[in-house]
Amino acid sequence: MNDVVVLGAGLAGLGCARRLGTARVFEAGAHPGGHSYSHGIDGVFFDEGAHICHSRDQEWLDMIRKAAGEVIQIPQSRVSNFWHGHWVTYPVQNHLNELPNDARTNALTDFVSAQIEHKGKEPRNYLEWCRYQYGDYLTDNFYAEYTAKYWRVPMEELATDWLAGRLLPSQVQRIVAGAIAPQDETQSVFACFHYPAQGGFYRFFESLYADIDITCGVRAVEVDPDGKMVRFDNGDKAGFTRLASSIPLPDLIDMCTDVPDEVRDARALLRYIKLLCVNLTVARKELVPHHWFYIYDNDIDVSRVSVPSNLAPGSVPEGVTAMQAEIFRGMDEEWDVEALTSKAVTDLGRILKFDPDRDLVHVEPVVVPHAYVISDLNRATAVECIHSWLRSKGIFPMGLFGHWKFIWSDASFRSGEETAEEILKS
Ligand SMILES: Cc1cc2nc3c(=O)[nH]c(=O)nc-3n(C[C@H](O)[C@H](O)[C@H](O)COP(=O)(O)OP(=O)(O)OC[C@H]3O[C@@H](n4cnc5c(N)ncnc54)[C@H](O)[C@@H]3O)c2cc1C
Repeated sequence: MNDVVVLGAGLAGLGCARRLGTARVFEAGAHPGGHSYSHGIDGVFFDEGAHICHSRDQEWLDMIRKAAGEVIQIPQSRVSNFWHGHWVTYPVQNHLNELPNDARTNALTDFVSAQIEHKGKEPRNYLEWCRYQYGDYLTDNFYAEYTAKYWRVPMEELATDWLAGRLLPSQVQRIVAGAIAPQDETQSVFACFHYPAQGGFYRFFESLYADIDITCGVRAVEVDPDGKMVRFDNGDKAGFTRLASSIPLPDLIDMCTDVPDEVRDARALLRYIKLLCVNLTVARKELVPHHWFYIYDNDIDVSRVSVPSNLAPGSVPEGVTAMQAEIFRGMDEEWDVEALTSKAVTDLGRILKFDPDRDLVHVEPVVVPHAYVISDLNRATAVECIHSWLRSKGIFPMGLFGHWKFIWSDASFRSGEETAEEILKS
């Protein structure tokens, strides 16, 4: 269908264009890939925030493994938490024996109390969910602390619709066993995963873009839903009968003409966080054993650190550890990228015991303007209102920021395919 315009050449745009066969794809960035893109510096590839493939979608896995060439299968992820000077295996509730005695006792006592006190209760928000699942001690000392750094909103403002596939509900037997003795299991969702042997996460997808008609470096700036026209920042225009859009929903609404008031009001409710990736290479071999780790302490800005040299050891020069530290801020928060970058290097040097002046080979800040959608209590209703208006105009939102809810890479690609099916039937 030549009259379909696709906005955004991330994985949703890829899935949509491949399924349609013919479609014109327009991408603001200099290259396709969106959030799945990886870029190389001195032979080390960094992703846009920690990316691994833990998909259970066999057909998808077969496709991307073939496209990537050599792929590493990691049967058991190594994930840890750094908490006030202690390293505790992830997820903390299943490894309480690794906490100091008083913390372990408090955590276990509060966990048991929660099982009795909140049994059968339906949580109204993320704070209640954590208190009911894990008890007050773990909620206040781990989950609330991490939420403040990562989501940048109070826990009670968050819904629970984003948890499936990300956090484990409490498993009494595992928690008790983990309080008594060391356990080797980790979070089941990420326990086993795949990663390309070379080229970073994007290597899974790069060759799949070969036959797609993509114009890169053009940003959509205006959409006329009734006149069925998109205008780009270079002055070009593209007419459409159907528009498939993977660009962030608030941006799409802002560029549409004649938007009804209730849709504008719904758009004003959408919130997200932005991300600063601090990519670094350090001239120290195997500085850290983990694939990634979380930092809970609120005097350290970094929330999560992934370690590309452990994900794909053969892709990194000998004797070097490559890491990516992630720092999140709310969409409207001011930030000083240079100061945050420099503090991240100092903090990681202290935690991992390297000397930045002597050992640092390369450091590079990369800003990701849209990282995660905030799944607050307004999100679902607001998105429904916006989607229903867009669809009535022949505009189909898709992917991570079209659906405006967190979905993994496989689901973003599939959402593009599903959008194509819907367009073909419409
Ligand atoms: C920090 C982070 C970590 C993640 N980790 C994982 C992981 O470990 N495993 C996993 O499977 N998934 C992970 N994901 C999810 C995965 O990255 C996404 O599901 C997927 O890449 C989203 O694809 P998309 O096409 O929907 O959106 P995007 O990748 O955002 O693509 C949208 C495209 O639209 C373009 N665009 C925006 N505005 C305009 C405009 N006005 N005009 C034209 N083009 C425009 C953008 O440049 C972009 O290329 C992670 C996501 C994030 C943010």
